[in-house]
Amino acid sequence: MDTIEMTQQHIMSTYGRSNLVLESGNGATCEDAVKRKYIDFGSGIGTTSLGFCDPDWTDAVCAQVKKLQHTSNLFYHEPQAELAQMLCEMTGYSKVFYGNSGAEANECAIKLARKYSFDKYGKGRHTIITLVNSFHGRTLATLSATGQDVFHNFFFPFVEGFRYVKANDIEDLHANLDDSVCAIMVEYIQGEGGVKPLHAEFVAEIRRICDEKDILMIADEVQTGIGRTGKLLAGEHFGCKADVTTLAKGLAGGLPIGACLANEKCADVLDKGSHGSTFGGNPVACAGAVAVLKKMSQADMMQSIIEKSDYIRSQLAAIDEVSEVSGKGMMIGIALKTKNAADVLQECLKNGLLVLTAKDRVRLLPPLTIGMDEVTEGMKILCKVLEG
Ligand SMILES: *Cc1c(COP(=O)(O)O)cnc(C)c1O
Repeated sequence: MDTIEMTQQHIMSTYGRSNLVLESGNGATCEDAVKRKYIDFGSGIGTTSLGFCDPDWTDAVCAQVKKLQHTSNLFYHEPQAELAQMLCEMTGYSKVFYGNSGAEANECAIKLARKYSFDKYGKGRHTIITLVNSFHGRTLATLSATGQDVFHNFFFPFVEGFRYVKANDIEDLHANLDDSVCAIMVEYIQGEGGVKPLHAEFVAEIRRICDEKDILMIADEVQTGIGRTGKLLAGEHFGCKADVTTLAKGLAGGLPIGACLANEKCADVLDKGSHGSTFGGNPVACAGAVAVLKKMSQADMMQSIIEKSDYIRSQLAAIDEVSEVSGKGMMIGIALKTKNAADVLQECLKNGLLVLTAKDRVRLLPPLTIGMDEVTEGMKILCKVLEG
């Protein structure tokens, strides 16, 4: 039996997969089982931020897996501590909690916000405002936080205490504020929702309200974080620092990790026994993340992300079929005039290019370290498909 048959027979069919079995990769190029090459403009949904098997990353991960692969969080180990120090230094946050995914990072943020409020104000101040069209994960609490009705099905009862406000609608935000609200949680650029950035005035108003009412602002930077938008955190584009920021996808270069960062105001809310994870902060994942952060702190890294992104965006803007190019840096949404995004994805695949979709848009999340040769080769295919 081949891989596809075995998968279909034995793995629950929760994913809409393309007919492609990937076997190996190098940089932004990967190969299938019959050695056909593909340029990768998807990064495993924004995760392989340094591309496939970056040599420095691979060395760090292999060295760690040969030294100490796991300890539990009942002991200390260096990669966890080193990563936490780097994260705090580079982002200005005070402390971190480690999980293994974006959903777990957001679960942590939700628990932290509710406990912050409980500790200070007692019971009843537990409502978390999120945005319509958001995406925060697949666990029950993060599904409940997700502001899309399609996700609020089958699994009743959902977690109570979430309220959805229209993105960029300051009036709707005010209308939903009351004494029960403990946090406002947003993606600066909605990823799964179609690569849709928030307006600067809306973000500023959220930050102002949170300061005024001692509500925690939570930024879900699971997709936008760690250089994806041409800044280490997307909040920098808005001159905004949330009280809590969550990270996951690109952080460890393709290994499972989630991180919930808290500022000085709420860094000590989650105390002994109040939260935990067996795998969270695993040494191998942390060693991978340290390698990613070292690359991100190289002097020309953000500049090179912006230059490549500018090139891709200018090429796309010249195509008649394209009605809008959204997002920031290497988080790129492409709105189409007549074509269907899912068809474009399949046509790109046939021609040797991996892209993503988000709602009715084509979405590109290329590896941040992609070479200019791979960018031009991938764009040749994409432009041909969009013009065809
Ligand atoms: C992908 C994503 C998540 C969920 O991450 P998982 O690792 O799949 O749990 C949460 N929030 C945002 C913004 C995401 O893009």
